[in-house]
Formats: sequence, structure tokens, C-alpha cells
Amino acid sequence: MSIPEAPPVLRGERVQRVHWVLGTDQLRAVCHCGAERLFDDPIELWEWLLGHPDDHRPAEPPEPTPPPPRTPREPASVPA
Ligand SMILES: [Zn+2]
Repeated sequence: MSIPEAPPVLRGERVQRVHWVLGTDQLRAVCHCGAERLFDDPIELWEWLLGHPDDHRPAEPPEPTPPPPRTPREPASVPA
């Protein structure tokens, strides 16, 4: 007996997912904006999901470090 294939996964602007985290009592909510959060309580989970976009912004990425200023350099001498 074979395991039936999983149905195609929906994609889209309004798709929200809830995953049961195997081996735990936790649920992972995934918003359509890409935000993810773990919850113990499904009510809190749905309040968070449906409250989009409150608190869904991913942590601010660290400021990209500016590239070091280019120092003019003598062209490498090519051995003859
Ligand atoms: Zn969101």
C-alpha cells in the first residue's frame, strides 16, 4: 500500500498555515507575509494570524555594513 501524495500546497496572498509541530504540543503559525511564530494556545495563534500585520514584521535586519571605502591602489605589478 502506498501513501497517497499530499495535495498541492496553496500559495497566495491570503494563505495562512498552521503546522502542528510533531512531538510537541506546539503549533506553528505561518502568515501569508512570511511571519512565523510558535504557539501553545490555538486561540492566541489565530488572534495573531488574523491580526496581521500587527507584530508580523520580521526583526529588523541588521544594518548592512557599508563596504569599506575603496582605497586607490597602485596596480599590481605584473612580473615580466
Ligand atoms: Zn502577516
